[in-house]
Amino acid sequence: MEKIYDVIILGAGPAGLAAGLYAGRYRLSTLIIERGKDGGQIAITDEIENYPGQIVEGETGPSLIARMTAQAEKFGAERASDTITKVELEGPVKVLYGHKDTYKAKTVIIATGAFPRPIGCKREAEFMGKGVSFCATCDANFFEDFEVYVVGGGDSAVEEAMYLTKFARKVTIIHRRNELRAAKSIQEKAFQNPKIEFLWDTVVEELHGDGILDGMTVKNVKTGELTRIDADEDDGLFGLFGFIGYNPRSELFVDMLEMENGYIKTDDNMHTNIPGVFAAGDIRVKSLRQVVTAAADGAIAAMQAEKYCAEHEA
Ligand code: NAP
Repeated sequence: MEKIYDVIILGAGPAGLAAGLYAGRYRLSTLIIERGKDGGQIAITDEIENYPGQIVEGETGPSLIARMTAQAEKFGAERASDTITKVELEGPVKVLYGHKDTYKAKTVIIATGAFPRPIGCKREAEFMGKGVSFCATCDANFFEDFEVYVVGGGDSAVEEAMYLTKFARKVTIIHRRNELRAAKSIQEKAFQNPKIEFLWDTVVEELHGDGILDGMTVKNVKTGELTRIDADEDDGLFGLFGFIGYNPRSELFVDMLEMENGYIKTDDNMHTNIPGVFAAGDIRVKSLRQVVTAAADGAIAAMQAEKYCAEHEA
């Protein structure tokens, strides 16, 4: 007979791995399904300063997540690497259809997170990986001693810009307003960094280049003025990093789960509108998307899954 897990967790970021750890400790039969690499957003984060207790010098997102993975597996969470393409969530047995297999469980915890929002300029797709990036940790070393531009004004943009100064000759933050959204403490560090410059009230309109990004047209949103920026002649290229927020990975659940701007609505105990289906982490409607809040959501969701299983035992 096909196995019916107590809980299937979709996504192996901090929310999913914390849910896996707690579900394992509750002795629930647990499967964590992830289509890519573990870690979600923090897999591509160089420095995490605000996860309580994480003050180990030189620790990165990937090293933290590796320990979270090991901890979840230690308590018995099974793993599957698959992309889920269809789900049936109503009823006592939830069914998840993947490219490789079909999975069944009494409860599902959705921890699919959110992915970087595209910059939204012309020819962006053409230059992906050829100058355009959404991951400083992954791609900063390609721009050693080159110029780099960062789009955005939030915590991610400013923190990643600072990280990029370790590699790039100069980093220019392009922001659509004349004041940053980033936390004041982060802003202060950036304003003191001699390698960081700012292009205020500006958006990127179009990218240029023949196979590799070597120019772009930017627009001043106040005056409408268009300016062409070209790579230094000796360089022949520059980097453009987008950090303008995230889109939730919730497309599988449209018309099933209640949502707000694509984020899944839950109550304080991570219950969605379907019994036995929970959501945790960045995919939820919430006020603070951080590792610490994602992990907390995961723990709560696992506890509620355990309660649901106990209440629905045959
Ligand atoms: P965010 O806070 O939503 O900031 C997005 C930035 O991109 C904003 O400055 C926004 O401009 C700009 N933007 C949005 N859409 C744009 C568009 N179409 N064109 C140009 N610019 C656009 O996103 P985030 O920085 O990725 O942070 C996400 C969450 O993670 C936040 O809660 C943040 O606090 C948290 N986070 C925390 C840390 C940390 O504490 N160390 C690090 C990273 C992220 P406006 O300002 O004009 O809206």
